[in-house]
Amino acid sequence: MSTEEGAAAPGGPASAASAAENDATTPSKVVVVFDYDWSLVNENSDTYLFKTLAPEVYAWLKERARENPGDWTATVDASLLKMQDSGAAELGGIQTCLENIPVLDEMLDAVRETAASDAGALHIVSDANDFFIRVFLEKHGLATMVDSVHTNKSFTDDEGYLRVAPYVSAEDPHTCELCPKNLCKGLVIDKLGILTPDVRVLYVGDGGGDFCPGLRLRPQDWLLVRSDESYPSALGLSKRIKAHQDERPVLARVRPWTQGSEVAQLVREALALARRARV
Ligand SMILES: [Mg+2]
Ligand SMILES: [Zn+2]
Repeated sequence: MSTEEGAAAPGGPASAASAAENDATTPSKVVVVFDYDWSLVNENSDTYLFKTLAPEVYAWLKERARENPGDWTATVDASLLKMQDSGAAELGGIQTCLENIPVLDEMLDAVRETAASDAGALHIVSDANDFFIRVFLEKHGLATMVDSVHTNKSFTDDEGYLRVAPYVSAEDPHTCELCPKNLCKGLVIDKLGILTPDVRVLYVGDGGGDFCPGLRLRPQDWLLVRSDESYPSALGLSKRIKAHQDERPVLARVRPWTQGSEVAQLVREALALARRARV
């Protein structure tokens, strides 16, 4: 399963000792970490909002994003401001739109079943923003089931407009070369402190930004990689794993998915293994 465990299990008396050690450290907890866009929900919430409510602002956003690559959060913020200032949408309309963002069948069962289990915990790590995610979670009755949300900030400005700001401020930048300047999801994994021997982490993702946290995972963890050719915009993680497989291999067990039901089933499988490790 893993290079590390493989290396620790040559023949002789040592192998019995290491087997016993492995038994003692079979993960008895499951921590599910969900990416949001194209993972927990089946859309990019940033673009979905503008496409739905203000196509002219969406066209402007695309143009600005082309001119300012690597500055996505500022582009979304400027687009939000433009949309509200022009009267194309108000906060109530924005909220309703985001509450109704498409979701794959059974995907939310993965959240509900993790939360219902003594052995489970769940976090969201996303390049969307706090408002977009919170309104969705509240609408679907999931807000209290999620242990934490790590994403770009949202706030209401003096004009009463919804605005967003980067998770990582420009004054205190991170140094990860794999990630955009506003967010390194790998650092969030570090901060969560979940990489302990008693935990199996299931990271559910689709995009290039999920590669860095994917590299944090250990052989006992599972990286749930969206692998659906019919969603080319949700193959960034899959492509990045392949591109770096020699020099930066993922150590976790890679488990491809295309349907929400597959994610729910994998979560069920991990929870069952953890429960078995507890008795
Ligand atoms: Mg995503
Ligand atoms: Zn990173």
